[in-house]
Amino acid sequence: MDYQAVLEEVAAHARPYVRQGRVADYIPALERVSADRFGIAVADINGDVYGVGDWETPFSVQSISKTFSLALVMAQSHGGHDSIWQRVGREPSGTPFNSLVQLEAENGIPRNPFINAGALVVTDRLQTLTGDASTSMLHFLREESGNEDLAFDQAVADSEAEHGDRNAALAHFMASFGNLENPVPSVIEHYFWQCSIEMSCRDLAVAGGFLARHGLRADGSRLLEAREAKRINAVMLTCGTYDAAGEFAYRVGLPAKSGVGGGIIAVIPGRCTLCVWSPALDARGNSVAGAAALDHFTTLTGWSVF
Ligand code: GLN
Repeated sequence: MDYQAVLEEVAAHARPYVRQGRVADYIPALERVSADRFGIAVADINGDVYGVGDWETPFSVQSISKTFSLALVMAQSHGGHDSIWQRVGREPSGTPFNSLVQLEAENGIPRNPFINAGALVVTDRLQTLTGDASTSMLHFLREESGNEDLAFDQAVADSEAEHGDRNAALAHFMASFGNLENPVPSVIEHYFWQCSIEMSCRDLAVAGGFLARHGLRADGSRLLEAREAKRINAVMLTCGTYDAAGEFAYRVGLPAKSGVGGGIIAVIPGRCTLCVWSPALDARGNSVAGAAALDHFTTLTGWSVF
Protein backbone atom coordinates (compact mmCIF):
# COMPACT_ATOMS: atom_id res chain seq x y z
CA MET A 1 0.00 0.00 0.00
CA ASP A 2 1.37 3.40 -0.99
CA TYR A 3 0.20 5.21 2.12
CA GLN A 4 1.54 8.57 1.03
CA ALA A 5 -0.38 8.48 -2.26
CA VAL A 6 -3.57 7.35 -0.48
CA LEU A 7 -3.26 10.16 2.08
CA GLU A 8 -2.76 12.76 -0.67
CA GLU A 9 -5.92 11.55 -2.35
CA VAL A 10 -7.83 11.47 0.93
CA ALA A 11 -6.72 15.03 1.73
CA ALA A 12 -7.84 16.26 -1.70
CA HIS A 13 -11.22 14.60 -1.18
CA ALA A 14 -11.63 16.10 2.31
CA ARG A 15 -10.52 19.63 1.37
CA PRO A 16 -14.04 20.89 0.38
CA TYR A 17 -15.33 19.80 3.80
CA VAL A 18 -12.74 21.82 5.71
CA ARG A 19 -14.50 24.82 7.36
CA GLN A 20 -17.87 23.04 7.17
CA GLY A 21 -19.27 23.02 10.68
CA ARG A 22 -18.24 25.09 13.69
CA VAL A 23 -15.06 25.24 15.74
CA ALA A 24 -15.80 24.35 19.41
CA ASP A 25 -16.62 27.57 21.22
CA TYR A 26 -17.52 26.43 24.73
CA ILE A 27 -14.12 27.70 25.87
CA PRO A 28 -12.26 30.70 24.40
CA ALA A 29 -8.97 28.79 24.14
CA LEU A 30 -10.44 26.41 21.54
CA GLU A 31 -12.43 29.05 19.66
CA ARG A 32 -9.18 30.75 18.63
CA VAL A 33 -8.02 27.78 16.48
CA SER A 34 -8.34 28.38 12.72
CA ALA A 35 -11.03 26.32 10.96
CA ASP A 36 -8.74 26.04 7.91
CA ARG A 37 -6.45 23.43 9.38
CA PHE A 38 -6.41 19.86 8.07
CA GLY A 39 -3.91 17.09 8.69
CA ILE A 40 -3.89 13.31 8.55
CA ALA A 41 -1.31 10.73 9.60
CA VAL A 42 -1.01 6.94 9.44
CA ALA A 43 1.33 4.88 11.61
CA ASP A 44 1.62 1.30 10.41
CA ILE A 45 2.25 -1.55 12.82
CA ASN A 46 5.96 -1.63 11.89
CA GLY A 47 6.43 1.94 13.09
CA ASP A 48 6.52 3.72 9.72
CA VAL A 49 4.61 7.01 9.75
CA TYR A 50 3.14 8.96 6.85
CA GLY A 51 1.28 12.25 6.83
CA VAL A 52 -0.04 15.15 4.80
CA GLY A 53 -1.22 18.70 5.54
CA ASP A 54 -0.99 19.91 9.15
CA TRP A 55 -0.12 16.46 10.44
CA GLU A 56 2.71 17.69 12.67
CA THR A 57 0.81 20.61 14.24
CA PRO A 58 -0.21 20.05 17.88
CA PHE A 59 -3.89 20.49 18.79
CA SER A 60 -6.01 19.91 21.88
CA VAL A 61 -6.70 16.17 22.19
CA GLN A 62 -9.85 16.71 24.28
CA SER A 63 -11.96 13.52 24.34
CA ILE A 64 -9.39 11.46 22.45
CA SER A 65 -7.71 11.30 25.88
CA LYS A 66 -10.62 9.08 26.99
CA THR A 67 -9.18 6.21 24.91
CA PHE A 68 -5.83 6.50 26.63
CA SER A 69 -7.22 6.83 30.16
CA LEU A 70 -9.17 3.61 29.66
CA ALA A 71 -6.09 1.85 28.25
CA LEU A 72 -3.98 3.07 31.15
CA VAL A 73 -6.50 1.91 33.74
CA MET A 74 -6.56 -1.53 32.09
CA ALA A 75 -2.76 -1.64 31.91
CA GLN A 76 -2.38 -0.48 35.52
CA SER A 77 -4.93 -2.94 36.85
CA HIS A 78 -2.70 -5.90 35.94
CA GLY A 79 -5.50 -8.15 34.76
CA GLY A 80 -7.96 -7.03 37.45
CA HIS A 81 -9.54 -4.56 35.04
CA ASP A 82 -13.02 -6.02 35.27
CA SER A 83 -13.74 -3.90 38.33
CA ILE A 84 -13.91 -0.78 36.16
CA TRP A 85 -16.82 -2.37 34.31
CA GLN A 86 -18.84 -2.47 37.50
CA ARG A 87 -18.68 1.31 37.56
CA VAL A 88 -19.12 2.14 33.88
CA GLY A 89 -21.08 0.38 31.14
CA ARG A 90 -20.25 -0.38 27.52
CA GLU A 91 -23.40 0.48 25.64
CA PRO A 92 -23.82 3.46 23.33
CA SER A 93 -25.64 6.30 25.05
CA GLY A 94 -27.43 7.85 22.08
CA THR A 95 -27.22 11.14 23.98
CA PRO A 96 -24.73 14.04 23.71
CA PHE A 97 -21.30 13.49 25.24
CA ASN A 98 -21.98 15.74 28.24
CA SER A 99 -25.54 14.60 28.93
CA LEU A 100 -26.81 14.03 32.48
CA VAL A 101 -30.16 12.44 31.76
CA GLN A 102 -29.39 8.71 31.90
CA LEU A 103 -27.40 8.88 35.12
CA GLU A 104 -30.39 9.32 37.42
CA ALA A 105 -32.32 6.30 36.16
CA GLU A 106 -29.14 4.20 35.93
CA ASN A 107 -27.81 4.65 39.48
CA GLY A 108 -24.94 6.94 38.61
CA ILE A 109 -23.35 4.31 36.31
CA PRO A 110 -22.45 6.01 33.00
CA ARG A 111 -23.31 4.17 29.81
CA ASN A 112 -19.72 3.95 28.54
CA PRO A 113 -16.18 5.25 29.17
CA PHE A 114 -16.18 7.57 26.14
CA ILE A 115 -18.84 10.04 27.23
CA ASN A 116 -17.82 12.64 29.81
CA ALA A 117 -19.48 10.90 32.76
CA GLY A 118 -17.74 7.62 31.92
CA ALA A 119 -14.38 9.27 31.44
CA LEU A 120 -14.72 10.96 34.83
CA VAL A 121 -15.17 7.52 36.44
CA VAL A 122 -12.16 6.16 34.54
CA THR A 123 -10.09 9.21 35.57
CA ASP A 124 -11.18 8.66 39.17
CA ARG A 125 -9.96 5.04 38.96
CA LEU A 126 -6.68 6.18 37.39
CA GLN A 127 -6.26 8.69 40.20
CA THR A 128 -6.62 5.88 42.75
CA LEU A 129 -4.25 3.60 40.84
CA THR A 130 -1.48 6.13 40.11
CA GLY A 131 -1.98 9.01 42.57
CA ASP A 132 -1.90 11.46 39.63
CA ALA A 133 -4.29 10.75 36.78
CA SER A 134 -3.10 13.57 34.52
CA THR A 135 0.68 13.35 34.91
CA SER A 136 0.56 9.56 34.54
CA MET A 137 -1.33 10.03 31.26
CA LEU A 138 1.13 12.65 30.00
CA HIS A 139 4.06 10.32 30.72
CA PHE A 140 2.24 7.42 29.07
CA LEU A 141 1.55 9.48 25.94
CA ARG A 142 5.14 10.73 25.79
CA GLU A 143 6.38 7.17 25.96
CA GLU A 144 3.92 5.74 23.41
CA SER A 145 4.36 8.61 20.93
CA GLY A 146 8.12 8.89 21.39
CA ASN A 147 7.66 12.66 21.73
CA GLU A 148 9.17 13.87 25.00
CA ASP A 149 7.95 17.43 24.32
CA LEU A 150 4.25 16.63 24.80
CA ALA A 151 2.72 19.00 27.34
CA PHE A 152 -0.48 20.23 28.91
CA ASP A 153 -1.96 23.48 27.59
CA GLN A 154 -2.45 25.53 30.71
CA ALA A 155 -4.80 28.02 28.99
CA VAL A 156 -7.11 25.21 27.88
CA ALA A 157 -7.06 23.49 31.29
CA ASP A 158 -7.82 26.79 33.07
CA SER A 159 -10.58 27.59 30.61
CA GLU A 160 -12.13 24.12 31.06
CA ALA A 161 -12.17 24.65 34.82
CA GLU A 162 -13.68 28.11 34.49
CA HIS A 163 -16.47 26.77 32.26
CA GLY A 164 -16.65 23.38 33.98
CA ASP A 165 -20.07 23.49 35.62
CA ARG A 166 -21.48 20.69 33.49
CA ASN A 167 -18.60 18.31 34.18
CA ALA A 168 -18.68 19.24 37.88
CA ALA A 169 -22.41 18.47 37.92
CA LEU A 170 -21.80 15.07 36.31
CA ALA A 171 -19.09 14.26 38.86
CA HIS A 172 -21.14 15.39 41.87
CA PHE A 173 -24.14 13.44 40.67
CA MET A 174 -22.10 10.25 40.33
CA ALA A 175 -20.48 10.90 43.71
CA SER A 176 -23.98 11.06 45.23
CA PHE A 177 -24.45 7.46 44.04
CA GLY A 178 -21.09 6.47 45.55
CA ASN A 179 -19.48 6.01 42.12
CA LEU A 180 -16.36 8.13 42.76
CA GLU A 181 -13.46 7.14 44.99
CA ASN A 182 -11.76 10.54 45.08
CA PRO A 183 -13.03 14.06 45.86
CA VAL A 184 -14.92 15.69 42.98
CA PRO A 185 -12.59 18.73 42.66
CA SER A 186 -9.55 16.52 42.19
CA VAL A 187 -11.29 14.22 39.66
CA ILE A 188 -12.49 17.06 37.45
CA GLU A 189 -9.16 18.88 37.68
CA HIS A 190 -7.27 15.81 36.42
CA TYR A 191 -9.90 15.26 33.71
CA PHE A 192 -9.44 18.85 32.49
CA TRP A 193 -5.65 18.47 32.40
CA GLN A 194 -6.01 15.24 30.40
CA CYS A 195 -8.26 16.99 27.85
CA SER A 196 -5.78 19.87 27.55
CA ILE A 197 -2.83 17.76 26.34
CA GLU A 198 -1.57 18.96 22.96
CA MET A 199 -0.59 16.39 20.34
CA SER A 200 -0.27 16.25 16.57
CA CYS A 201 -1.80 13.71 14.19
CA ARG A 202 1.62 12.09 14.05
CA ASP A 203 1.85 11.85 17.86
CA LEU A 204 -1.64 10.39 18.21
CA ALA A 205 -1.31 7.88 15.37
CA VAL A 206 1.96 6.59 16.83
CA ALA A 207 0.69 6.62 20.44
CA GLY A 208 -2.39 4.61 19.43
CA GLY A 209 -0.24 1.95 17.75
CA PHE A 210 -0.87 -0.61 20.51
CA LEU A 211 -4.54 -0.70 19.48
CA ALA A 212 -3.57 -1.88 15.99
CA ARG A 213 -0.90 -4.26 17.36
CA HIS A 214 -3.37 -6.16 19.56
CA GLY A 215 -1.93 -4.64 22.74
CA LEU A 216 1.78 -4.65 21.86
CA ARG A 217 3.91 -1.51 22.06
CA ALA A 218 6.23 -0.46 19.21
CA ASP A 219 9.19 -2.23 20.88
CA GLY A 220 7.25 -5.51 21.10
CA SER A 221 6.61 -5.32 24.85
CA ARG A 222 3.06 -5.95 25.97
CA LEU A 223 0.94 -3.06 27.24
CA LEU A 224 -2.42 -4.85 27.13
CA GLU A 225 -3.65 -8.37 26.55
CA ALA A 226 -4.94 -8.88 23.01
CA ARG A 227 -8.48 -9.26 24.33
CA GLU A 228 -8.16 -5.95 26.22
CA ALA A 229 -7.13 -4.14 23.04
CA LYS A 230 -10.04 -5.82 21.28
CA ARG A 231 -12.40 -4.54 23.97
CA ILE A 232 -11.17 -0.96 23.69
CA ASN A 233 -11.54 -1.11 19.90
CA ALA A 234 -15.04 -2.53 20.24
CA VAL A 235 -16.14 0.24 22.60
CA MET A 236 -14.55 2.82 20.27
CA LEU A 237 -16.62 1.45 17.39
CA THR A 238 -19.89 1.51 19.33
CA CYS A 239 -19.36 4.60 21.51
CA GLY A 240 -16.29 6.56 20.34
CA THR A 241 -18.10 9.23 18.34
CA TYR A 242 -20.90 9.84 20.84
CA ASP A 243 -24.45 9.87 19.52
CA ALA A 244 -23.12 9.58 15.96
CA ALA A 245 -21.39 6.21 16.53
CA GLY A 246 -23.94 4.34 14.42
CA GLU A 247 -23.60 6.78 11.55
CA PHE A 248 -19.81 6.69 11.87
CA ALA A 249 -19.70 2.88 11.77
CA TYR A 250 -21.99 3.00 8.73
CA ARG A 251 -19.80 5.49 6.86
CA VAL A 252 -16.29 4.59 8.01
CA GLY A 253 -16.50 1.13 9.56
CA LEU A 254 -13.59 1.54 11.98
CA PRO A 255 -13.12 1.85 15.73
CA ALA A 256 -12.62 5.58 16.27
CA LYS A 257 -12.50 8.22 18.99
CA SER A 258 -13.14 11.88 18.39
CA GLY A 259 -12.55 15.03 20.43
CA VAL A 260 -13.96 18.54 20.24
CA GLY A 261 -10.48 19.83 19.34
CA GLY A 262 -11.31 18.38 15.89
CA GLY A 263 -9.14 15.28 16.08
CA ILE A 264 -10.27 11.69 15.41
CA ILE A 265 -8.15 8.57 15.86
CA ALA A 266 -9.17 5.40 14.03
CA VAL A 267 -7.77 1.89 14.20
CA ILE A 268 -7.38 -0.79 11.57
CA PRO A 269 -6.44 -3.79 13.74
CA GLY A 270 -3.41 -5.66 12.40
CA ARG A 271 -2.52 -2.84 9.99
CA CYS A 272 -2.29 0.73 11.21
CA THR A 273 -3.60 3.58 13.36
CA LEU A 274 -4.80 6.83 11.77
CA CYS A 275 -5.32 10.30 13.13
CA VAL A 276 -7.05 13.12 11.28
CA TRP A 277 -7.52 16.69 12.45
CA SER A 278 -9.69 19.53 11.24
CA PRO A 279 -11.30 21.80 13.85
CA ALA A 280 -14.78 22.53 12.42
CA LEU A 281 -17.32 20.16 14.03
CA ASP A 282 -20.77 18.87 13.22
CA ALA A 283 -23.66 19.24 15.70
CA ARG A 284 -22.57 16.11 17.59
CA GLY A 285 -19.01 17.29 18.13
CA ASN A 286 -17.20 15.31 15.42
CA SER A 287 -14.87 16.87 12.84
CA VAL A 288 -16.73 17.18 9.51
CA ALA A 289 -13.63 17.01 7.29
CA GLY A 290 -12.12 14.37 9.57
CA ALA A 291 -15.11 12.05 9.11
CA ALA A 292 -15.10 12.68 5.34
CA ALA A 293 -11.39 11.82 5.21
CA LEU A 294 -11.78 8.55 7.12
CA ASP A 295 -14.80 7.65 5.01
CA HIS A 296 -12.70 8.14 1.88
CA PHE A 297 -9.72 6.26 3.34
CA THR A 298 -11.74 3.09 3.94
CA THR A 299 -13.44 3.47 0.56
CA LEU A 300 -10.12 3.73 -1.27
CA THR A 301 -8.33 0.97 0.63
CA GLY A 302 -11.24 -1.38 1.34
CA TRP A 303 -9.84 -1.59 4.87
CA SER A 304 -12.86 -1.16 7.10
CA VAL A 305 -13.25 -3.87 9.74
CA PHE A 306 -16.32 -5.17 7.87
N1 GLN B 1 -13.21 18.94 27.46
C1 GLN B 1 -14.43 18.56 26.83
C2 GLN B 1 -15.54 18.45 27.84
O1 GLN B 1 -15.32 17.90 28.86
C3 GLN B 1 -14.22 17.26 26.10
C4 GLN B 1 -15.42 16.84 25.33
C5 GLN B 1 -15.15 16.28 23.97
O2 GLN B 1 -14.06 16.36 23.39
N2 GLN B 1 -16.19 15.77 23.40
O3 GLN B 1 -16.63 18.93 27.62
